[in-house]
Amino acid sequence: MLEEMAMQVDKNIVVKKFGGTSVGALERIENVATRVIRDQSRGESPVIVVSAMSGETNRLVRLANDLDPYYRGAAYDMLLASGEQVAVALLTIALEKRGAKAAPLLAHQVGIQTDALFSKARIRSIDTTKISSLVEQNIIPVVAGFQGVTEDDQITTLGRGGSDTTAVALTAALKGSACEIYTDVPAVYSADPRLVAKARELKTVTFEEMMEMASVGSKVLHFRAVEIAAKYNIKIHSRSSFEDRDGTWVMAEENMLENPVVSSVTHDPSTVVIQLNPVPAGAAFLANLFARLAEKNIVVDIITQSASDSPSAHTQRLHFSIPEEDLPQTQKLLQEILKNETEVKVMRDMAKISVIGVGMKNHPGVAARFFKIFKERNVDVHLVTTSDIKISAVVAKSQLKEVAEALHTEFDLDV
Ligand code: ADP
Ligand code: ASP
Ligand code: MG
Repeated sequence: MLEEMAMQVDKNIVVKKFGGTSVGALERIENVATRVIRDQSRGESPVIVVSAMSGETNRLVRLANDLDPYYRGAAYDMLLASGEQVAVALLTIALEKRGAKAAPLLAHQVGIQTDALFSKARIRSIDTTKISSLVEQNIIPVVAGFQGVTEDDQITTLGRGGSDTTAVALTAALKGSACEIYTDVPAVYSADPRLVAKARELKTVTFEEMMEMASVGSKVLHFRAVEIAAKYNIKIHSRSSFEDRDGTWVMAEENMLENPVVSSVTHDPSTVVIQLNPVPAGAAFLANLFARLAEKNIVVDIITQSASDSPSAHTQRLHFSIPEEDLPQTQKLLQEILKNETEVKVMRDMAKISVIGVGMKNHPGVAARFFKIFKERNVDVHLVTTSDIKISAVVAKSQLKEVAEALHTEFDLDV
């Protein structure tokens, strides 16, 4: 243990993850290689994690879905994981072309072990022996993000965006205190800059806020990555691979000077609302339905239930939201378990919009300000959920931009 720590100080290991856009073309891969070698020459021992080239994982998903939209399992994960293999190999070639020593590594070669929940696997352990020995020899390990391997050698994937999680988990395993996540935006913003033009860069974000942002749909960091960072107190530095300046530090709240009431407006453009009416009254039906969805690894997001208009009918109404990608599986399951009398309404063009901030804990009135924005614009709210640092509402996608911009202004976030 002490020896390991000594090596880390000696070697100054820094895990650096490069996302899809950062390795999206050969020219960009060359830039990443130049940057990594520069960092090494400045005394760092880089450990690299890469995602697939941008667009590649989507292309692989489409191929599988065109064959069979219901298939999920070992072959699906094997297919999706292949994108990272290409990026790892190309970056290794680019590093070696520049005279560096580098080693391309897939999950099974590193020993990134996961459970067997295909498409949403969780990392159980990482064997650092190989990486530590490479670092000792000044060889740059280039590790495939997003993938793992089960106990019986099946390839798994960690969920879309999961390369961030590989990077943070690797940092924890190597006992590092910070991890660099390079992406196509220079920082984490107060809203997705593609949606809200007046979004501002955040210098710092708490783990708690970032976890909420990730769980309500911001793609900028993978939820599990932030969860692991919070557990092991690893600071995440989210920054641009195209610029040299500092980006956003995601870290523990006690490091912050002050917390705004709302620090971000976050959206999820791929929410589907499912309305079931009528279904049998009572918890037994609900327990069975949600257990069956869980068996298929479908994460139900917001649920609202209400009694039927006539109490003697012994029925209830149920509305819930799911990620768009889980819709085919959900529809198939509903066909299996629902009786003919239940009307199923699928509302596809929905989006979830949320305001998040640890400062909310000490400030009343946030909900009132939130719903005022919808009321003033006559925007229908389909589902609502809250936590002590978040309020979310599901609205029609066509109204998302308008609402997001108005909330951003309302909570004093505009640049
Ligand atoms: P990578 O491929 O590097 O992992 P992602 O596409 O997964 O990149 O994440 C970066 C993207 O996240 C940005 O291009 C941006 O559109 C989006 N994003 C969503 N919310 C935010 C936010 N609050 N701040 C910054 N980027 C955000
Ligand atoms: N390539 C994977 C994806 O597109 C993982 C990642 O980018 O982090 O979801
Ligand atoms: Mg990502």
